Amino acid sequence: GLILGIETSCDDTSVALVDRAGHVAAIRTVSQFEIHEAFGGVYPELASRAHLEAILPTVQGVMEEASVTPADLTAIGVTRGPGLIGSLLVGLSTAEALSMAWDVPAYGVNHLRGHIRSVALESGRTEFPAVIMLVSGGHTLIAELKDAWSYRLLGSTRDDSVGESYDKVARMLGLGMPGGPAIDKAAKAGQPVLRLPRPMKNEAYEFSFSGLKSSVARHIEKHPEVSVEDMSASFVAACMDVLAAKADRALDACKPRSLVIVGGVAASPQLRDAMGKVAAKHGVELCLPPMKWATDNAAMIAMATWDYVERGLQPGLMPKPNLSLETP
Ligand code: ATP
Ligand code: FE
Repeated sequence: GLILGIETSCDDTSVALVDRAGHVAAIRTVSQFEIHEAFGGVYPELASRAHLEAILPTVQGVMEEASVTPADLTAIGVTRGPGLIGSLLVGLSTAEALSMAWDVPAYGVNHLRGHIRSVALESGRTEFPAVIMLVSGGHTLIAELKDAWSYRLLGSTRDDSVGESYDKVARMLGLGMPGGPAIDKAAKAGQPVLRLPRPMKNEAYEFSFSGLKSSVARHIEKHPEVSVEDMSASFVAACMDVLAAKADRALDACKPRSLVIVGGVAASPQLRDAMGKVAAKHGVELCLPPMKWATDNAAMIAMATWDYVERGLQPGLMPKPNLSLETP
């Protein structure tokens, strides 16, 4: 059987078909990048309207591409939170309607569990216990996983997420959107010549990135002679230094079998390198999502849905804009 995954929590309309082993039979993602670009952020009203226009043709597209009929579906899995309420509602009401029309059960799924299960797509598997670091646009947190369901939050950010600070620094440096890949590229061409702060590096598992961002802003003003590439490299070096220190500390304390890094920033080659070194030092396996599925997509939602189906956990189809990691 296959699971039809639907993801509309933010600004991408994504639909995918995924089997139990994590093979993706089809996936289509409609980006709203051009709609929101002018606003410098996601404009919620326009996001839900664009989801509404895209969702049914996208469902139809993946079903046709994989030659799948409703009878081939084990379940429908849809993001119920966290996210923008209007955007979530489009996916949830679509899933509810399809569920009734096709007589296939629908599961509301936690988007963050989707990110965590993204490492199982295509080839990966995770040995438990694991330490996971979620580095996305909305979250920066580190947690211990005893198994796929039992989370213990170790710490999270007090202000900005890493992804957010990448986006803001990219804007300050005139690199435009999306900020993450632009910073990666500029950083590769530069040297970390500036000594930027490492906020909260020595404090257990809490993070803080807004001070680092302000420090970059001050340096741009005071040192206009430093190139965008060197500025980016210095910023990335500071982020990596902090993230690696937290991962190192968690591996020391939890002694897990794997280190799992998920969320949009897991697409950063510098982060992949830095975490590879930490994992090697502790002799644990490093689990990363396929590069193209680090950011929001429906394949990870479908993958996470398999866990819900097997546990008979059906949390319902109400939107939960502030859903936390601990709640299914
Ligand atoms: P959440 O899942 O917490 O609700 P989100 O879904 O908006 O947030 P993701 O799609 O997981 O977040 O990730 C988006 C973030 O990842 C952006 O802030 C972006 O800058 C960052 N990002 C994407 N690609 C890269 C990259 N190659 N290098 C660094 N950062 C990246
Ligand atoms: Fe996300």
